[in-house]
Amino acid sequence: MNGIKWPEGKKSAVMFSFDVDGDTTWENGNKGLPNGEKYIKSLSVGQYGPKRCVDRIMDMLERYNVRATFFVPGLTAERYPELIKRIAEAGHELGHHGYAHERFAGRTVEEQIEIIEKSKKILEDLTGQDITGFRTPSGDWSIETPGLLYERGFRYSSSMRGDDRPYRTVIDGEETDLIEIPTKWEVDDYVAMAYNMYPAEPAGQDRISCYRCVEDNFMREFEGHHRYGLCISFMSHPQVIGSPGRIRILDHLLKEITSREDVWVATGSEIADWYRDNYPKGGK
Ligand SMILES: [Zn+2]
Repeated sequence: MNGIKWPEGKKSAVMFSFDVDGDTTWENGNKGLPNGEKYIKSLSVGQYGPKRCVDRIMDMLERYNVRATFFVPGLTAERYPELIKRIAEAGHELGHHGYAHERFAGRTVEEQIEIIEKSKKILEDLTGQDITGFRTPSGDWSIETPGLLYERGFRYSSSMRGDDRPYRTVIDGEETDLIEIPTKWEVDDYVAMAYNMYPAEPAGQDRISCYRCVEDNFMREFEGHHRYGLCISFMSHPQVIGSPGRIRILDHLLKEITSREDVWVATGSEIADWYRDNYPKGGK
């Protein structure tokens, strides 16, 4: 089923990614409520991620010698600069995740440029890394967004859902060197297990899924992607996967995946670079 030829004869590729949203998603959610700026409990749900969970996740990654990709809003990086530096110092990759976790769809080109350039600079100044990866925060991007990213040195995005292999993003009708590494809702811990009473998450309430079942879902998706020679991009959020109980799901995934010699575990930029170098425009 059109698998990809991965480096060194590996059969499939796995990208572990973590969206360190911090307070931002809850600030945005509160804005829609009467007197929303006064709500602070929901903010603490997000704050739990940078406060307690990112370090726990990094310890787990170190145990399995895995380098991951952390997508961080610029505002979160400003609030937790030491944490962001620690992520970079541990050898992980930082990626762009908006400034205040804002929706790009519906914003003017000028507003999008400001967000892109501002957060890129914040992350680069803090870490010394070239920030070349992007994950769209809160829903969709606009038709102009990929072109604006590409013009500003971005080399890949992990935002879309429509494939289980990397591909070249088409901008103005042309395939470009901006590589998309799609992810999926079914490997997003937020969909399975995030919860808050007010504002309601999920909107209809009634969800903290069985951890054993979530682990089984994730493992089955890995097995399926591996069988067909594809690329899976696990999308996690520290305040969800990094709790003392749920970190076991990550532990088991890492244990299983790193025990397979024919799996390539890589960062977003490594996967994008490899795909760009080996799958020329007009190919497939
Ligand atoms: Zn996010």
